[in-house]
Amino acid sequence: MMERSKPSQRESEATSSNDAALNGLLDGMEKMPKWNGTPKETPKGEKSSGTRAPCSSVMESWREERTRSVEDNEMSLPGIVTAYTTILRGLGEDPQRQGLLKTPYRAATAMQFFTKGYQEKIIDVLNDAIFDEDHDEMVIVKDIDMFSMCEHHLVPIFGRVHIGYLPNKRVLGLSKLARIVEIYSRRLQVQERLTKQIAVAITEALQPAGVGVVVEATHMCMVMRGVQKMNSKTVTSTMLGVFREDPKTRDEFLTLIRS
Ligand SMILES: [Zn+2]
Repeated sequence: MMERSKPSQRESEATSSNDAALNGLLDGMEKMPKWNGTPKETPKGEKSSGTRAPCSSVMESWREERTRSVEDNEMSLPGIVTAYTTILRGLGEDPQRQGLLKTPYRAATAMQFFTKGYQEKIIDVLNDAIFDEDHDEMVIVKDIDMFSMCEHHLVPIFGRVHIGYLPNKRVLGLSKLARIVEIYSRRLQVQERLTKQIAVAITEALQPAGVGVVVEATHMCMVMRGVQKMNSKTVTSTMLGVFREDPKTRDEFLTLIRS
């Protein structure tokens, strides 16, 4: 059985401190109106208890149900189309204008595609992709393309995800790491949650000695508004197990994903 005693709080703290450690790319982040209540500063010496217990949200991704089906898509499509027509009118456009006639329909189906992660469950992806293996070296897959939608503004977040884990007798088919990224990113997201969900799903699936996930992303809501820097990237990370507790393991991971 798994220990579930650890509050998830420590994890978010670890996330923010690792952000800062990663590089100085947090400028853009500071300007976000609200940063999901995640504390930016980690009190020094906070993470000392050295447990390797999975975080408290462990098993959540296995329990999680699909919130949408293909049939739902068909049923909800007319309503979404109508809503986009209203939006066009509200923006001062004429929805009957030639170029816009099919736009509400196109926008609706595109939005359903951008959020198709709601139609999928992690457990379907992981089924029959977990192998017993005596491999005990770090496994890293870097530069996984990621396209998501900011849940605050409904505009794209895109970037790359780097994943590493230290197996403990179980490994996952490599392509499945990208599938996990896909399922969680094709939803309305905030970057911190996306990062954490990927790490937790891998932890639950493999019970590895540790997991590290780094997400580097551009938020269109940031670069398109005001005076935000065009190339500002937001970097988030979640480190679990030995990736959190052992600086050498974490450094090895961070070095390898940058090489
Ligand atoms: Zn946004």
